[in-house]
Amino acid sequence: MSGRNPIEDLAHLRHEFGEHGGVNMSVEASSTFTVIDPETMPDLFQGRAGPDKGCYLYGRHFNPTVFNLGRQMAALEGTEAAYCAASGMGAISAVIMCLCNAGDEVVASNAIYGGSYAFLHDFLPAKTGIQTRFVDITDVDAVAAAITDKTRLIFTESVSNPTLRLANLPKLAAVAGKNNISLVVDNTFSPLLLSPAVLGADVVVHSITKFISGASDVIAGAICGTEAFIGELMDLHMGPLMLLGPTMDPTIAAGISLRIPHLPLRIKAHSERALAITSRLQELGLKVCYPGLPDHPDHKLFEELHCDEYGYGGVFTLDVGDAETANALMSCLQNEQRFGYLAVSLGYFDTLMSCSGSSTSSEMSEEDKESAGISPGLLRISIGYTGTLEQRWTQLLTALRHTGLVPA
Ligand code: PLP
Repeated sequence: MSGRNPIEDLAHLRHEFGEHGGVNMSVEASSTFTVIDPETMPDLFQGRAGPDKGCYLYGRHFNPTVFNLGRQMAALEGTEAAYCAASGMGAISAVIMCLCNAGDEVVASNAIYGGSYAFLHDFLPAKTGIQTRFVDITDVDAVAAAITDKTRLIFTESVSNPTLRLANLPKLAAVAGKNNISLVVDNTFSPLLLSPAVLGADVVVHSITKFISGASDVIAGAICGTEAFIGELMDLHMGPLMLLGPTMDPTIAAGISLRIPHLPLRIKAHSERALAITSRLQELGLKVCYPGLPDHPDHKLFEELHCDEYGYGGVFTLDVGDAETANALMSCLQNEQRFGYLAVSLGYFDTLMSCSGSSTSSEMSEEDKESAGISPGLLRISIGYTGTLEQRWTQLLTALRHTGLVPA
């Protein structure tokens, strides 16, 4: 079965032209907006006029260029609306703070990006009294059992960082629906591959910083959901996007909106390269994890839920046993072979690699890392599509031999 392919919705969007007939929209580099009729001002403040009617108030509220990127993000995710934020964390924190009040609870996956984990595990309880119960998200019964009458939402990544487990979104949506709570899904690892909202999620968030940007040059995020929810985020009294102010700059929005049209080509290229490399690593007997490999625990579920045009994504892990070996391998790959860069993040056109336990998951306690399956020698590799496959494979094989992971 092939899941939804957002490419037609993206192509169907009404194109916004530039002020002088440019094929691209003009950048609305204004922090404030005039009204012709003074009566419009109270309408804007009372929510009776807004961007849907072409009325803008102030740049921390809505901006037309950022709003235009939001329309593209909504088409990408199949939601009614979307709006962008200055970062993925800005988007995630705004959504959670919008859905929860002091004393409420969250049920979250125990395998999520370290920043999201720290926000839920440390920041929220200290600052707001919002508590989180962390569970193995692949165990839907455990998720259901963790829900109490204080729970307001389930938070998960569609594909977990860094363990690459797939959340069973339709089943989680059923649990959320039954308990009248929201399912919030971070789809950073799998834009286009998975459409969480179509599979039942109420809100989808993104770190645009990763695949959607594709060039590791900007920090950006997005929130996709209903028109009403985006409105709530911008509420002048209680909206976290409006009041905490993780505002996306319009020049950043304009740049990103020009990258969405070639996102499908880039995701396909990442996925093809990842499948080829991981298949070869597996043949060598190495401990590789990639949802595209038939022995991945969620391979079948992935086949059911994803859009097969885009494969299985651009991230895989390689467990080399211990941190010392992982460091030696990454050092050789970067400094001798020029295979990629020893850097956090993902979705770049070149390869990025990091040892998750000591970097992007280091916010987690040793026990929590162990129960989430993040071992000290686990390398997360976001595979790039530069160079040729054979060139990159030779570099990788040479480094594996050099570090003794493969016989010389
Ligand atoms: N979600 C995931 C899955 C991530 O990997 C990251 C960052 O690494 C974030 C969210 C946070 O995004 P940002 O760095 O854009 O704030």
